Amino acid sequence: MQEPTLAGSGSALVRAHTSLGDFDLTICSDGTYLLDGGAMFGVVPKTMWSKRIPADNQNRIRLGLNTAVIRTGQQVVVIETGIGNKQAPKMREIFENQELLPQSLAAAGVRPEEVDIVINTHLHFDHCGWNTTLHPDGRVTPTFPNARYFVHRGEVEHGHLQLERDRVSYLSDNYDPLVASGQMTLLGSESFADTPEGRVPICPGISVELFPGHTAQMMGVHIEPTRAAESRPAGSPPTPHACYIGDLLPTAHHLDITWVMGYDLDPLRCIEERKRFYSKAIPEDWLVLFTHDHDTPMARLGLNDKGKPVVRS
Ligand SMILES: [Zn+2]
Repeated sequence: MQEPTLAGSGSALVRAHTSLGDFDLTICSDGTYLLDGGAMFGVVPKTMWSKRIPADNQNRIRLGLNTAVIRTGQQVVVIETGIGNKQAPKMREIFENQELLPQSLAAAGVRPEEVDIVINTHLHFDHCGWNTTLHPDGRVTPTFPNARYFVHRGEVEHGHLQLERDRVSYLSDNYDPLVASGQMTLLGSESFADTPEGRVPICPGISVELFPGHTAQMMGVHIEPTRAAESRPAGSPPTPHACYIGDLLPTAHHLDITWVMGYDLDPLRCIEERKRFYSKAIPEDWLVLFTHDHDTPMARLGLNDKGKPVVRS
């Protein structure tokens, strides 16, 4: 298996590229944005988190907006679509986001028309923004016209509630037009309960699993090139496995099980889900894909001498 390579640094449009079995995996980006460092690290004191990631004079830290593009040989699959171009000018001023995903996809040779599947781990504005595109005349159209979109039904329902705590995170133009047109498939909790490992298959080699806590129905995405497994000679290394873990682990700076975010709706559940995730991801050597880490979009994990999860060098 080819080791992941970082494509340059700073403003590089394509953040990483690797092969996983006979799948091809590219990390594109909608650019970076700024969020309050305290909100990103919950109850962790600034004296601790600021050693890992510096804050500006407004206490903001720079985060990435990573979109994974997987070519399975049969399908082109996109996971997450950044912030998009529908932010009000005031919000854009606050976040300093850059709306780069279309250029990033072009730089990676991905045509929006060829995308078959789009998966959103949840529907916060910084995960599904380019699901649709706002045009100068006010029209909102699907960015990936031929794709089927997938999300958990509970996310759409939660967004519609417009609760005081998190209504700013849900922008209905990112999903309502797709639900109305039938282009977005809403997965119900019963689909997860009916599968052996709680994983709902989306297409060969790609499945989703619930990792609740950040939101009640956030999903991680498993990427497992099954065809490669079938043709593997005996004694070869285990089947490659990558997992796009969404906001359960937003960056590689969040690996300590208790370093959960102020944004998480149920931080205790996040801690339990992290333990559950590590119990598979570390021994099975999964390639972990981080949504919001601009510099380390993917990594394999290990335990340090204190038994804490760390990025394996
Ligand atoms: Zn989120």
